[in-house]
Amino acid sequence: MGMKVEQVLHMVGGAGETSYATNSRVQEKAIFEAKPIVEEALREVYKTALPESMVVADLGCSSGPNTFHVVFEAIDIVDDQSRRLGRPPPEILFFLNDLPGNDFNSIFQSLEVHEEKLKEEKQERIPPFYVVGVPGSFYGRLFPSRSVHFFHSSYCLMWLSQVPPGVESKTGVPLNKENIYISETSPPTVVESYQEQYRRDFTTFLKSRFQELGFGGRMVLSFLGGTNKYAPSGELSQLWGLLAEALNAMVLEGILQKEKVDAFNLPFYAPSMEEVRAVIQSVGLFDLDRVEIFKSNWDPFDDSSDDRIYDNIISGENVAKSIRAVIEPVIARNFGEQILDDLFSRYAKNVARHLLEEKTKHPVFVIALKIKV
Ligand code: SAH
Repeated sequence: MGMKVEQVLHMVGGAGETSYATNSRVQEKAIFEAKPIVEEALREVYKTALPESMVVADLGCSSGPNTFHVVFEAIDIVDDQSRRLGRPPPEILFFLNDLPGNDFNSIFQSLEVHEEKLKEEKQERIPPFYVVGVPGSFYGRLFPSRSVHFFHSSYCLMWLSQVPPGVESKTGVPLNKENIYISETSPPTVVESYQEQYRRDFTTFLKSRFQELGFGGRMVLSFLGGTNKYAPSGELSQLWGLLAEALNAMVLEGILQKEKVDAFNLPFYAPSMEEVRAVIQSVGLFDLDRVEIFKSNWDPFDDSSDDRIYDNIISGENVAKSIRAVIEPVIARNFGEQILDDLFSRYAKNVARHLLEEKTKHPVFVIALKIKV
C-alpha cells in the first residue's frame, strides 16, 4: 500500500467542534509535563551559545493553543535566562514545522491575538520574535546546516513516514487483516516491519537534526511509547484495536467493504524505551541527557491519578473526540466522510466498555538529547 504520510496525515483544522484546536487536551498535558525538561535544555543552549538571535524549531506544531504554548514558553525561558546572565534579551526566530496539509493559516491568523495577550501578561516586556511556517516532513532535511539552536517536538514521533511495506505480501495480499495497527493477531512479519520502519524513520530524523543543529544544540522530544516489551499487546494496540473493532463491525453490517478494512493500516508506532535508546546509540550523534516517562489518562478531561473511572460513557465519548481530531482525515480519505459519525460513536462505546475492564493509560516518553562534542 505504501501510504505516504505527507499526503494524508493532518489534524482536523480550524477551531470548530471536531477540530484539533478544540480537542487537544491530552497533548496539552504532555507539553506541561515536559516543561521542566524543555526549560533546562533551553537554558543550557542559551548559556552555551549566547546567541544574539536564537533559533527554535517546533516540529509537528499542528494548529491550536498548543502551538502557542510552546512558542510562548520558549520566549519566557530565553528571556529570563538572558536577564539572569545579565545580557540583553536575544531576538528569537521560531520555525513552526508540520506536514503541508496542516492548517498553517489558522496559526498565522490567530498569532496576533495570542501575541497581544502575552504582551498584556508581561507588560510589554517580551523580546522581539519572528514566526515562520515550514511545511515538510521531519523525516528529512528541513533547515540549512547548523542553523537551529533548539528543536522541540511533542506528540509527533510515533507517526511513521509511511505505512510499513510489510503489511502486505509481495503480491499485494493484506497480511494484517482486521487490524489497523499491530495486535496479538498480527503475523510476526508485520510486527517486524513496523519495528524496522520505526528504526529507519527515527534514524533519519536524528541524522537530519544533527546536520541542522549548531554548536551546543539540543532537543526535547515527547512521544507516545509502549511500556510493554511486547509491542503487540501494548497500550496503543488496545486503543487502536477498539477502533479496528468498530470498523470490523461495520463490515459485518455491510456498511464497509471487508477488503478495504483488511488493507487499512496506520503509519504509527509506539516504540519501547529500549528501541528508542538502541536507535540513538546506533546513530551515535547524540547523548541522551534526560529520560522521563509519564502516564496520561485516555480521557483528556480525566485529571485523576488513580485507577477509577468516574463515568465510562462520558470518558468513552471524550476519548473518541480526541482520537477523531487526529485521525479523521486519514479515515475519511480511506472510507469516505459519510461513515465518520457512525464509526466514532461505535468507537466511543467500545472505549466505554474497555474502560470498565481496565483504565489503560498512554505512556508518554520525554527525552532530552544534546549533540555529541
Ligand atoms: N505538537 C502539537 C501537535 C501534535 S499532533 C501538540 O503537541 O499539540 C502531531 C502532529 O505531527 C500533527 O500535526 C502531524 O501533522 C505532525 N506530523 C506527523 N508526522 C510528521 C512529519 N513526518 N513531519 C512533520 N510533521 C508531522
